[in-house]
Amino acid sequence: MANMSLNKTPMPEQEPKVRARNFDEVTTGYTEEMALNEALRCLNCKNMPCVTGCPVNVHIPEFITKIKEGDFEGAYQVINKSSSLPAVCGRVCPQETQCESKCVRGIKGEPVGIGRLERFVADWHNMHSTEAPVTEPANGHRVAVVGSGPSGLTCAGDLAKAGFEVTVFEALHMAGGVLVYGIPEFRLPKAIVQKEVDNLKAMGVKVETNMIIGKTLTVDDLFEMGFEAVFIGSGAGLPNFMGIPGESLKGVYSANEFLTRSNLMKAYKANPVTPIMKGGNVAVVGGGNVAMDAARTALRLGAENVYIVYRRSMEELPARREEVEHAMEEGIQFMLLNNPVEILGYNNPDDKRDPKNGTVTGMKCIRMELGEPDERGRRRPVEVAGSEFVLDVDTVVISIGTSPNPLIKSTTAGLDVNKRGGIIVEEGTGATSRDGVYAGGDAVTGAATVISAMGAGKVAAKAISDYLLEK
Ligand SMILES: Cc1cc2nc3c(=O)[nH]c(=O)nc-3n(C[C@H](O)[C@H](O)[C@H](O)COP(=O)(O)OP(=O)(O)OC[C@H]3O[C@@H](n4cnc5c(N)ncnc54)[C@H](O)[C@@H]3O)c2cc1C
Repeated sequence: MANMSLNKTPMPEQEPKVRARNFDEVTTGYTEEMALNEALRCLNCKNMPCVTGCPVNVHIPEFITKIKEGDFEGAYQVINKSSSLPAVCGRVCPQETQCESKCVRGIKGEPVGIGRLERFVADWHNMHSTEAPVTEPANGHRVAVVGSGPSGLTCAGDLAKAGFEVTVFEALHMAGGVLVYGIPEFRLPKAIVQKEVDNLKAMGVKVETNMIIGKTLTVDDLFEMGFEAVFIGSGAGLPNFMGIPGESLKGVYSANEFLTRSNLMKAYKANPVTPIMKGGNVAVVGGGNVAMDAARTALRLGAENVYIVYRRSMEELPARREEVEHAMEEGIQFMLLNNPVEILGYNNPDDKRDPKNGTVTGMKCIRMELGEPDERGRRRPVEVAGSEFVLDVDTVVISIGTSPNPLIKSTTAGLDVNKRGGIIVEEGTGATSRDGVYAGGDAVTGAATVISAMGAGKVAAKAISDYLLEK
């Protein structure tokens, strides 16, 4: 019998006060009973509006029906036909603007918790299944994938399944892209991503870390080494800065650097190789998901006060509501309608060797109000004259967006990019202006989402397969 509750089955989670000081996952996942209860809220609509909201078209009602039948492995197999990273997507996809936004149960009450069910199914599979992944027989064609984020992993996985010999070249020492260096452990445990990487390796994918394409090797070198096609999924990891005085002071980080030091370089440990702030007051400038991750990480690293400084209001703040709510519960302080104008530093003219010289002592901000809408319809923030004040902070983390790194473009002849540095590709194939070179994910679109990067990896894998098999 259908469960007609207007609300989602609640997701168990750690208490805010406890979790604000540890890096364990915030939400702990559905039990089988909870998953069944939530699955029974799905009405199995004939026209499947939820599927149209999913960028990779997961057959949502079909997998939920399997849950209702208690066939959790069957449910996983349904998802796996369309998505190669369900444990990741179930945790970090913005379902509220995708599949769940189309769910009819959302008209009167909350939509079905599709993301929560996806996560349950993927975790169940990872815990119980021992089956080796099935691949087509080797077809002898070799493909290089640059970058091991969701676009690269998806492209590599689809090609390996189809019998291609795939090598992933990753600049960092660990595979996973933003999934490991950006998104913190408390939202996406590294072990989950590692499991996905291990699955690819079990399919025969080789992963070469510490390989910067454009420095260690170029795209031309890859072709000379015998790769017949190259997929570029190098992301958008180049941070933007505000261009205000004081941005080069000690204690100012880009969110990418701050999160990478914490996530990958274990800066939270005693005597780390790459130290990071461990206390004091921290200002995070920006209002996106990345800003929320940086703020919540700072809290867990021991900050006394953590401020989100955002120049618009809560209505325009782009981060997912769930992340904002979690951040507020944990004690992050939102300073909305405020904009930094200068970062202030310590200067002891009497002692040039004073170690405190050049460290952050505060951030001068100005209050803002919302004016006329801009070209995107968002009300433009306008400074309130004479409203400057100094926020007492020791660390500033800048999280105002990132762009694709120009390294690969500058070392690859014939690769066209747009004015924002995104690689230009043909829609529907991911083919670039250079024959045999494909691209997808943030390297093409600029900073976007995990699922859109995965979708692009899938599209390119299909196009590469057609290109090489028809050659
Ligand atoms: C902190 C943070 C939180 C986020 N939270 C969410 C979220 O909750 N939900 C969501 O959907 N999206 C989120 N995003 C966005 C999402 O993670 C990205 O859109 C997605 O990871 C893009 O995937 P990608 O494969 O294109 O690139 P990336 O994940 O950026 O991977 C690119 C990889 O390429 C490597 N690389 C770069 N240059 C080279 C080179 N020259 N040679 C070899 N390797 C190279 C990089 O080291 C990296 O590992 C978040 C992003 C950040 C930064």
